[in-house]
Amino acid sequence: MTAGNSRVARVRIDLHTHSRASDGTDTPAELVRAAARAGLDVLAITDHDTADGWVEAAAAATEVGITLVPGMEISTIHYGRSVHLLAYLPDPTSPALADELTRVLAGRESRVPEMLDRLRGLGIEISADDVRAASHGAAATGRPHVADALVTLGVVADRTEAFDRFLGAGRTAYVHRYAAPLEATIRAVTEAGGVSVIAHPWGRGGLGRPDETTLTQLHAVGLAGIEVDHQDHDAAARARLRELARDIGLVATGSSDYHGTGKVDHELGCNTTDPAEYERLMALAAEAAVRSDRVPPVVTYGPATGTA
Ligand SMILES: [Zn+2]
Ligand SMILES: [Zn+2]
Repeated sequence: MTAGNSRVARVRIDLHTHSRASDGTDTPAELVRAAARAGLDVLAITDHDTADGWVEAAAAATEVGITLVPGMEISTIHYGRSVHLLAYLPDPTSPALADELTRVLAGRESRVPEMLDRLRGLGIEISADDVRAASHGAAATGRPHVADALVTLGVVADRTEAFDRFLGAGRTAYVHRYAAPLEATIRAVTEAGGVSVIAHPWGRGGLGRPDETTLTQLHAVGLAGIEVDHQDHDAAARARLRELARDIGLVATGSSDYHGTGKVDHELGCNTTDPAEYERLMALAAEAAVRSDRVPPVVTYGPATGTA
């Protein structure tokens, strides 16, 4: 069989997306169908701190013929700094991981009433029902849903304004919440038979940038990779992070961090992961699965992949 260059299609891989199971605006099935329309071959669903969207997304992936990697984005903390940790293919019922997820989700849920109290103190009447209506049945209600309720009530124009004026760290209605310790969470993901990748390590929202020393230490704990290509990173940050990944031996990923209409400038496939890096990540996940005593979830293979 001859391989004409014109027939070589580049596999397009997006490993960081959100559905309504957390703060995206698409249902998991809509997310998968949108990914197929966007020409993606491989999609990871990575809702915040939950595996709730996995089953629906996998069914849709089989229908539309794309590969689906089950994942999640865990809210962690490292030396006082907020770090988002992407976990791919972990067994979410693995005890250490399940404990942390329960604590994170409970923390998110419990701060909503306090945020509503503070908004009330500012003269903005917004009820728990308004927030629940805005959450469309998400695993836990949180700030993005309060923001959406503020938009619905006409208090602000969009989520960005809601965070800038009220809900962002240090703003008038901000309430601190629980985050899982980073190193323990990396270990918990490994024990659960999965692999972890730090999301947007030099992005907005964090209080600093993990440097070479920190990333080397985290790699020793079991960190598999870092998200290099993300909209929060400019060209210089991407170049430096790619260099760090290569020097330390971390996988370098690229993803959209798509939230549907919940986040502008994060269209599906706006950043993608190099197929070779994806293969490395999946190989590490396979090793972790073998070493763990868990039965991790599986990748749903669409017929369109693995043939490029
Ligand atoms: Zn994030
Ligand atoms: Zn995200």
